[in-house]
Amino acid sequence: MCLAVGLWLVQLLWPVPAMATETVSLQLRWLHQFQFAGYYMAQEKGYYRKAGLEVEIRQGGPGTPKPIEAMLSGDVDFAIANSGLVIARMQGKPVVALAAIMQSSPVVWIVRADSNIYTPLDLAGKRVMLMPEPESAELRITLAREGIDLSRLLVSETSFNPQDLVDGNTDAYDGYLSNEPFWLDQQKMAYRLINPREYGVNFYNDVLATRETLVQERPEQVEAFIQASLDGWQYALEHIEESVQLIHQRYAPNKSLEHLRFEAQALKKLIMPELVQLGHMNPGRWQTIANSYAQLGMATGPTELDEFIYSRKTETDHSVLYQVVIGALLALLLVGAVAWRFAHLTQHLRLEIKRRRQVEQALLNSNLQLEHLANTDRLTGQWTRLKFEEVALHEIKRAERYGFPLALIFFDIDRFKLINDEHGHETGDYVLRNVAQRIKAQLRESDCLCRWGGEEFIILMPHTDLEHAVVMAEKLRLLLAAEPLDKRINVTASFGVTQWQPGQGLRELVHCADQLLYRAKQMGRDRVECIALAAAQTQP
Ligand code: GH3
Ligand code: MG
Ligand code: MG
Repeated sequence: MCLAVGLWLVQLLWPVPAMATETVSLQLRWLHQFQFAGYYMAQEKGYYRKAGLEVEIRQGGPGTPKPIEAMLSGDVDFAIANSGLVIARMQGKPVVALAAIMQSSPVVWIVRADSNIYTPLDLAGKRVMLMPEPESAELRITLAREGIDLSRLLVSETSFNPQDLVDGNTDAYDGYLSNEPFWLDQQKMAYRLINPREYGVNFYNDVLATRETLVQERPEQVEAFIQASLDGWQYALEHIEESVQLIHQRYAPNKSLEHLRFEAQALKKLIMPELVQLGHMNPGRWQTIANSYAQLGMATGPTELDEFIYSRKTETDHSVLYQVVIGALLALLLVGAVAWRFAHLTQHLRLEIKRRRQVEQALLNSNLQLEHLANTDRLTGQWTRLKFEEVALHEIKRAERYGFPLALIFFDIDRFKLINDEHGHETGDYVLRNVAQRIKAQLRESDCLCRWGGEEFIILMPHTDLEHAVVMAEKLRLLLAAEPLDKRINVTASFGVTQWQPGQGLRELVHCADQLLYRAKQMGRDRVECIALAAAQTQP
């Protein structure tokens, strides 16, 4: 659901590219090579087409129109220029810099490694090649900054042929970092570079440019072209091998794959995609470049660059805004969905915990009930033999540990069978219940009354010695005998009383009491027999 809403929002808010195709042209500043990879890839990957543009890429080089002039004359719409573009602006020409591809210029001097030239100062008195202005601006400004007057050099125009360096026809060859070093490496000629950047001259290079009227009249097209070109550059730099293969195949078959690869790596260092946003232009840097040209006397006129530096504020700002809004909405939806799910799970968990607690409680209750059932005699409500044994074992341990006296009374209703026989089973039950209740009423809280089975009962009396137990048994015997249930039914019982002896187990204790009870029966019933006070037996 979240995804669907997200897609819907994207469709709703994303600017729809113009579908009508318009043809525009781009003038390169040199022969096809990796230097223009971004434009080829924008073409090949269909970025231009998606932006509604049909782009004609025109190769530069000897015999082709100068890019800036071709652009100003209306011959082409876009051009690749070097930083000398700003000179045209200072001369009042309506050029606009759209994006700077190379954040640093590749223009260098190349000297032989076996020469004694190490710095620009060492070029004094040497044969030095220079491209015409403004292509050689970086080199000329380096000389100026180092205080070297051009007249001290034996300057000749560049031959565009590094063989001249190999052959010794020049001492310093002006070339591109990305180009000639590859060729020299192949020639196995050791060389050194004199790089303007090391002398504080850091110019943009390969600047995408157009004329002001195009920006004013067709701003969407200009923006679309910039974006598609930068997308092309992004792709080219992320897929160097694929781009190299494609350029070799379709654009620059004369340049070897190795050479294109070398160029790609060298240019990537100058484009710096990891450090700088592709195409980025800093107004302050352009100002410095303009000032440098002015100082060099290569340009006069105002260095007001507001209209020169293209600001991607219209479409770009909106698209960034759209992206931010969509991103925020999606993030919100995601957070909402997570929160909703979390709340749902929490609720579910809460219910589950409640349900389990109820089940546990029910189980506990039923266990308690079961325990109660197991421990309580159903007819008399007194403890069962099971519970008696549990309590008795516990009390024997206590008696053992603390030396408390512990007494036991075993009693059996006399001639109970007769009661059943004469008055019926139900009356018999009633008698059992009644006897139990009456006996229980005489006992202490700590005493334990148990129905041992049938009409036999046991009383366990903690903290009670034999003497007191016998007194109690006697009291109970008299109680039962003195109060007949009704006029017809006389109930008596016989009692065996004993006291726990150290080392005696429960079974022995009960057995001893049973023996005494048996003796009481033998001796005529309705009497109390005890282990040590046999002589003092009370008689019915
Ligand atoms: P004595 O004096 O020798 O103890 O004689 P008695 O008749 O009491 O002993 P006997 O063991 O011969 O008989 C016990 C009777 O108790 C037998 C049995 O039917 C009866 N009885 C046992 N349990 C119950 C009961 O839960 N309800 C009823 N009504 N009778 C029971
Ligand atoms: Mg009996
Ligand atoms: Mg009996």
